[in-house]
Amino acid sequence: MDLALLERTLAERGEPGYRAYQVWEWSSRGAASYEEMTTLPKALRATLTESVPFSTLELVTERESRDGTVKALFRTHDGHSVEAVLMRYRDGRRSVCLSAQSGCPLTCTFCATGAMRFGRNLTASEIVDQALHFRRLEQIDHAVYMGMGEPFLNFDEVITSTRRLPDLGITHRRTTISTVGWMPGLRRFVDDVDQPIRLALSLHAADPAKRSELMPVNDRYPLADVLAECRRYVELRRRKVFVEYVMLGGINDSAADARALVSVLDPRAFKVNLIPYNPTGMYEGSSRQAIERFKSVLERARIPATVRLTRGRDIEAACGQLASVR
Ligand code: SAH
Repeated sequence: MDLALLERTLAERGEPGYRAYQVWEWSSRGAASYEEMTTLPKALRATLTESVPFSTLELVTERESRDGTVKALFRTHDGHSVEAVLMRYRDGRRSVCLSAQSGCPLTCTFCATGAMRFGRNLTASEIVDQALHFRRLEQIDHAVYMGMGEPFLNFDEVITSTRRLPDLGITHRRTTISTVGWMPGLRRFVDDVDQPIRLALSLHAADPAKRSELMPVNDRYPLADVLAECRRYVELRRRKVFVEYVMLGGINDSAADARALVSVLDPRAFKVNLIPYNPTGMYEGSSRQAIERFKSVLERARIPATVRLTRGRDIEAACGQLASVR
């Protein structure tokens, strides 16, 4: 819901100031229409239904994976595609994976989103509406900005959207923003954002030449600078940074690659999350043995490492598989 439009519409009608809050309270708790908002006068509900679209996004399709993961494809009013994912875990956690942009202008070679045409930055309302969509299905308690796009290329709208999530049941401590290491945004995140939002860094190769090959953005913002900024985050917030590392067979998964990673990471500042490669056509995923070997090199160096659970692969909802046209 476009909250600015909502407030304007209410003000034009001379409605009392608390109306906008009432509407937000209903929506953030999962109401599916203005009609359900029984504390609003009936005539007002009808006006809002006509003049303020209930969501800034139109749902195009929705699919559910065998593991319970749900992927939704939306369209913005101006025709851009946006995908978001609901992940359901056995321990009861419900995590939404949100997109910050339609498509992505960066061209990481292993990611399907980078191969689709870049649309535009999403507004804060368009980001929150992805979460609200799933909130209408069930309670949600975690959010990761790991969908389409680079959150720090859309800094203001992303941060504005995070401020709305606690009302949906997602605290800042359970909110994670993932970045390729886009320095202008990362710096502002470390300097200006006081909320205890978690930070994740997509690293993927410690060797500069190798990282540049996988992630061209590395030429612009070298890893050493990015890691220094992450350490500053850890010092200020006293929370570790998650390092994401997608395991590509024969590319970045050798014991030497693991040692290179150890050499750039301070165990007091980072935890590593190894991500099994989700097929996008370009690479082979690492074998289970290669992933275990990599993990044990990290652990011997006392760097905590976990292997990410793969969710929603059968519906192309897994990491790196979000792309509305393929
Ligand atoms: N642009 C931000 C936010 C997207 S996060 C970032 O890159 O951090 C999406 C995560 O999925 C990133 O860590 C990305 O590197 C990873 N990823 C991309 N393609 C993947 C693939 N094919 N298999 C597994 N993980 C992938």
